[in-house]
Amino acid sequence: MSRKELSVEHPKWGTIRLTYNPRARHIILRAHPDAIIITLPPNTKNSDIENALEKYGDSLKIKQTEISKKIDADYYLDRPLFRLNIQKCDIGRIRLTGCNGKYILQYPSSIEITEIETQEELRIGITAAIRHRAEEILPARLRELSQQHKLQYSSVSVRKSHTRWGSCSNKGAISLSIYLVLLPQELIDYVILHELCHTIEMNHSPRFWALLDKLCNCSSKGLRLQLKYYKTDII
Ligand SMILES: [Zn+2]
Repeated sequence: MSRKELSVEHPKWGTIRLTYNPRARHIILRAHPDAIIITLPPNTKNSDIENALEKYGDSLKIKQTEISKKIDADYYLDRPLFRLNIQKCDIGRIRLTGCNGKYILQYPSSIEITEIETQEELRIGITAAIRHRAEEILPARLRELSQQHKLQYSSVSVRKSHTRWGSCSNKGAISLSIYLVLLPQELIDYVILHELCHTIEMNHSPRFWALLDKLCNCSSKGLRLQLKYYKTDII
């Protein structure tokens, strides 16, 4: 049996390229800028492919978005609480500098910015800046809002979460996505208040929404709507 390739349009996961490899031992999934590539061993059932996609599809789509975005010399992020510019410099390696939410990511003038390795390093640098800012402002703001509204949480962690802005465990452990720092202050507060409300109401019942609305000065519906316009997959 030889290698065969087949391209299909999946209703949920978009373009998928299937490669049959007689020597493959298990299903391998990879993200490419324009497709999800799946390598299949002999005798793979359709249900095996579907199961693999259900399990890994979300993270592959995120990876796909990441690698399809090019970071060029003019790249910048200009948000109310976070600014970042790229700068060509006479330095030996990529370097991140900055404070108070203003960052500069410098790269050596000797390297080609479009190279895959450079792109990956710049992406790591941008994420490091976002994480730095997130650790600087998010736990402090959570503490402030918790004290202001007398809502207790047990711990806070700041994570590189693309799928959720925040979460709260039933023990009151709050987790916040680093990408919150790319939002305006009122939406950061909205997400934090949402998680703090879960320390009282561990559900999305009418009582939960009423409490959240009270803490947001009756503007929670509008804020919730605004939040939908923001995405975490900026790089
Ligand atoms: Zn919730």
